[in-house]
Amino acid sequence: MGILDLNNIKEALQIAGKIEFYPQILEMQEKLLDQHKRISDLEAEKKGLVEKLEIQGSILFENNAYWIEKSGKKDGPYCSCCWDDQKKPIRMHPCGNPAVYECPKCKSRVVVYSSRDNPPRAAQFIPDYM
Ligand SMILES: [Zn+2]
Repeated sequence: MGILDLNNIKEALQIAGKIEFYPQILEMQEKLLDQHKRISDLEAEKKGLVEKLEIQGSILFENNAYWIEKSGKKDGPYCSCCWDDQKKPIRMHPCGNPAVYECPKCKSRVVVYSSRDNPPRAAQFIPDYM
């Protein structure tokens, strides 16, 4: 589906005896579609950058993992390797032992302890080979 109603435009040009302008209309339609896609891509990029800025303002690094503070609560752990390298907030998943979390992307691991007095936190880094 195009931006312009090409059938109506073509018919109007034929009625007006100006059909020679139709290729220019098609070219304009193509340029509009390209610009529309460019705007959509930029909006998506902007949304991602705004999200990263919001995360950057509320992210905490504790014992080899990142935690995001939302409404006074800590959410995480998030992989420090992926955030530091690509600014991607990759949530780490529990793996086997409920205290051990692993990044599904880069496979980094941390051990997380939690108690009523202290929110969950990563206590140590476990290399991939363990
Ligand atoms: Zn990772």
